[in-house]
Amino acid sequence: MIQAALIGNPNTGKTSLFNKLTSSYEYVGNWSGVTVEKKVGQLRDKTGQLTDLPGIYTLLPITRDEGVAVSYLVNESPELLVNIVDASQLERNLQLTIQILEYGKPVILGLNMIDVAKSNGLAVTPEVLAERLGITVIPLVARTGAGTDFLLEQISLPHHDSPQFNLNYGDRLEKAISLISRELMTSPPQNTDISSYRWLAIQILENNPVVISSLSSYANLNQLLAIQKNVREEFISEGMTESLHDHIRSIRAEYIHQVCSEAVDASGKKPHSLTEKIDAIAAHPFWGIPLFLFTMLIAFKLTFDWLGDPLSDLLDGFISGAFSQSATQLLIAVGASSFTQSLIIDGIIAGVGGVLVFLPQIFILFLMISFIEDSGYMARITVMMDRLMQLAGLNGKAMIPFIIGFGCNVPAIMASRSIEQPKERTLTMLLIPLMSCSARLPVYALFAGIFFVRQQAVVVLSLYVLGIALTLLLAKLFSLTLFKDKHSFFLIELPPYRMPQSATLLRSTWEKGKGFLRKAGTFILGGTVLIWLLTYFGPGGSNVDMDQSYLAVLGGWFAAILQPIGFGTWQSGASLVTGFMAKEVVVSTMNIIYHVPDMPGLQHQIAQFFTPLQAYSFMTFVLLYTPCLATVGVLRKETSSWKWTLFSVAYSLLLAYTISFIIYQGGRLIGFV
Ligand code: GDP
Ligand code: MG
Repeated sequence: MIQAALIGNPNTGKTSLFNKLTSSYEYVGNWSGVTVEKKVGQLRDKTGQLTDLPGIYTLLPITRDEGVAVSYLVNESPELLVNIVDASQLERNLQLTIQILEYGKPVILGLNMIDVAKSNGLAVTPEVLAERLGITVIPLVARTGAGTDFLLEQISLPHHDSPQFNLNYGDRLEKAISLISRELMTSPPQNTDISSYRWLAIQILENNPVVISSLSSYANLNQLLAIQKNVREEFISEGMTESLHDHIRSIRAEYIHQVCSEAVDASGKKPHSLTEKIDAIAAHPFWGIPLFLFTMLIAFKLTFDWLGDPLSDLLDGFISGAFSQSATQLLIAVGASSFTQSLIIDGIIAGVGGVLVFLPQIFILFLMISFIEDSGYMARITVMMDRLMQLAGLNGKAMIPFIIGFGCNVPAIMASRSIEQPKERTLTMLLIPLMSCSARLPVYALFAGIFFVRQQAVVVLSLYVLGIALTLLLAKLFSLTLFKDKHSFFLIELPPYRMPQSATLLRSTWEKGKGFLRKAGTFILGGTVLIWLLTYFGPGGSNVDMDQSYLAVLGGWFAAILQPIGFGTWQSGASLVTGFMAKEVVVSTMNIIYHVPDMPGLQHQIAQFFTPLQAYSFMTFVLLYTPCLATVGVLRKETSSWKWTLFSVAYSLLLAYTISFIIYQGGRLIGFV
């Protein structure tokens, strides 16, 4: 059984290859930082195991996910490394390759993205690379799978040769390298089976913290560090200002440049690649953000006006028409009691069905977000937003959790683990619930569909933007008061624009959306049954009038408090309380409360209870108030603090009330009702 690992720069197609070689499905994204933990899978031909590592630019780790890859090399000592490089960015990618060659274990070079290189007018000759680096080089297009069968064959060979690669770093460094190697040879460190002392020596000279700490129990470590210090001082005394690491890097760069000039024919290189042309407009420092808002507006137009609503209406017609009728007939045929009939028809079908009708909107929006992510556009937005985020005191790394938060806040809070600074991490986790997750979408779709028929897209977009604006504002406030700390900086690599592949696109849409379906079968179903029971029973007995039910009593407690923000009815109070289970349940509750048997258009009912201004205030409240049960649970787990969990619940309630108050009372002042 062979133990092989995929290693390479971020965004070079490692995970795509991993999926092809092991027939598994891991998240592929046109991003760096998508794979933050290593993943292990069995090779398709069952000859061994393959590990997918997070992307790294160099073995010198800066972030924790980069550390994952380096500690893997130091501690787990794989038998075979498959180094994936992007053929269209060869010079930059080979920096890591050299360090991997020095590591001394067998290496296969996967020359990926041959298609991209070709369309940029670059012709790479694999044979020249193979000869200069002394290893097998296999051209690949991971996206289509071209070359992957041959790669799998090569990985599965019973024997692999170690590379014989020696780059000369100049007399002074070479002397230090052999001094360190000799020291290691005379008294070998225990607990490490790194075969190449030369590699260890170079890493020590580069001051690699992971490598040095792996030697912490080595008795002669101080001698090694003394040698490193000596060379450094020698260089300084000669007037050199760059660090040893930079010096080593530039020697490698010179060598790489020479190799590339032989292996890459750039004579047909296009002067302006498509990516540069698009970026001149899309990543414009001034127009970039407005253009993004416009893109999102189009996305919402598609989600609601153009595609989603017509589909949703069809679904609604089916569920509240044919489906309900057949269910009723079936129940009568089997002789179900009127209690059971009502539970199923007026409770479950009205409540769960009322949420499910918004499935088209949710999946269309996710499809659009997946497209924006995988095309490479989202990475530009991240960079443009980064400046704003820094001003607000947030780590740019928070962008990725925030974007995940538009799908669901729960995985978003978990994704904040990639932020190392504990304070920045807590700050990010506290703000994630302000990202408008998909659970709130049915509420918007319901209300905007009734009260803002012509401006649905604009109204919904305004709620998303409100969430983001409040995030930035609160981030500033919290970081000035609760989290005084200097923040670390953020670096994201801009990937080239790519036309997303439909299979990947559908897959990631499904990954985002399946949680919604799962919730429909669990939380929403359970909530619906509970709510229906609360409407069926009341202090006066069973099958009571809705206004006399326990739900009315419960909602009534809150009606007075909600009066100043525009919806002081027991119905609104009850929906919001039950919505704590999951925000979709707000819609289920309303469907049950306002359900009139044999009258599909719930629309008409709600329209009598709200004015457009009240409806907007209500949507805002749903956006901002207490995160759902699952989010609160994961917050507690990830912050391991009740204090912060309660703080999150409290501040969001306060915020929701304040903003809705301003909207409702402000709206009335300027003449709305
Ligand atoms: P990783 O970060 O190295 O794991 O890279 P991913 O596998 O997540 O891929 C990054 C992006 O490159 C995705 O959008 C892939 O669809 C795309 N991609 C991967 N391999 C190729 C290829 O050979 N050609 C092209 N055109 N795109 C590719
Ligand atoms: Mg990956």
